Amino acid sequence: MNIQAKLELGNKAFLNWRKISFEERQKLFSKMAELMRSDVDKYAVTITKEMHKPITQSIAEINKTAGMLDYYANCENVLAPENIETEFNVSEVHHAPLGIILGVMPWNFPFWQVLRFAVPAILAGNVVVLKHASICFGTGRLIEELFVQAGFPEAVFQNFEVGHKEIQEILESPYVQGVSLTGSGKAGGEVASIAGKNIKRSVLELGGSDAYIVLDDAEILKAAKEAPRGKLQNTGQVCNAAKRFLVQKSVENEFIPAFVEEYKTYVPGDPMDKNTRISKMARKDLADELLAQYDKAIANGAEIVLPLERLSDQELKPGIIKVKAGNPILQEELFGPLAMLMVGETDEELLALANDIPFGLGNAIWTKDKKRAQFFIDNLDSGTVSINKSTSSDARLPFGGAKQSGYGVELSTVALREFTITKTIVGN
Ligand code: NDP
Repeated sequence: MNIQAKLELGNKAFLNWRKISFEERQKLFSKMAELMRSDVDKYAVTITKEMHKPITQSIAEINKTAGMLDYYANCENVLAPENIETEFNVSEVHHAPLGIILGVMPWNFPFWQVLRFAVPAILAGNVVVLKHASICFGTGRLIEELFVQAGFPEAVFQNFEVGHKEIQEILESPYVQGVSLTGSGKAGGEVASIAGKNIKRSVLELGGSDAYIVLDDAEILKAAKEAPRGKLQNTGQVCNAAKRFLVQKSVENEFIPAFVEEYKTYVPGDPMDKNTRISKMARKDLADELLAQYDKAIANGAEIVLPLERLSDQELKPGIIKVKAGNPILQEELFGPLAMLMVGETDEELLALANDIPFGLGNAIWTKDKKRAQFFIDNLDSGTVSINKSTSSDARLPFGGAKQSGYGVELSTVALREFTITKTIVGN
């Protein structure tokens, strides 16, 4: 079937799906969560085979995704009509679905990212077509199968195995009313400009280079032990991972050695081995790019704390560099096992370093002092601020970015409204 025929089918599905109640839709997501949990290994092995995530982390991704389905299967219906007091007999606000929404999704969390976008969009009454990352087409097929097995009507979710050039054709279809993209700024900018030209809704979840700020009154050793996990999960290929470790000068000598010691325990291994915590990168070109960024950072004055070393085409031994303000590498996202350390004297200086980048997804602040934490909460430019923990997404809480990390909200009941129209009904 060609793209236009599949979009026709999607539109037919939409015209029926929009009439199904919120509660009926929720029941199908409950069933889908059950199906995922009954075959975790099958789904997890596909993730690991396609993009090399360590198998325990693929299993965790499937369980977390099933938990997110449970959340939406039981969440409050924030789309129910609202009554507003006016002089008219009827004055209501409705939230109506838009139509087909396109998802352009990445390989780093190939189940979670797709469903994190698709579930609230579909629960709101839309239908979805997916253009998955080209190395994750197997996962795309499994997700489509899950929708069918859970009992969703045909074409409520369709997997399109297409490349970039078809995105324009899909987005220009009058049946397609919006797009959600998770990936690089380059892909996001190109897709959003097609959406903009066609006056269609877009949500962008792009890169980050989040700070992990350790103040002098923090539990330093706890922060140092947690830091490498925050950076190296999924072999460092996480949008909201801690990527820059900003340490207060007075505790530098306590934090850095403990951080480096723990970091060195992450040794690349076979992704199918349950003891492996870090593995190959998803593609060779991503490893090439990270090594080029490492060279660029050093050429601009970065100091090597632990060398980033190539072990094979896609396997890198994790590295750490110490970077000073002004190094052009700070304007880029390091998507892989290379961490940046920075030192600052005062809270104000650490805040300025944290904000002096083009991105803002999920900064973390470590301190025991609520007032000092509040200063960072109020002034950090990011969609999330985590306190005394690494940043991670949570189905119950909104997730989104500031600056070039994108716009729009995923997760929580807030995401249910992203692809709806607010309709006013008023009169007598
Ligand atoms: P991309 O942004 O290229 O890929 C993400 C998705 O966008 C894929 O489905 C991809 O398709 C699609 N895509 C790529 N280019 C275009 C385009 N011009 N128009 C429309 N769609 C496009 O990420 P990469 O895999 O190349 O990774 C590059 C960098 O992006 C990483 O190093 C990282 O910095 C960032 N990134 C951030 C992610 C996040 O979670 N925020 C996730 C992945 C990457 P296809 O696979 O067919 O190219």
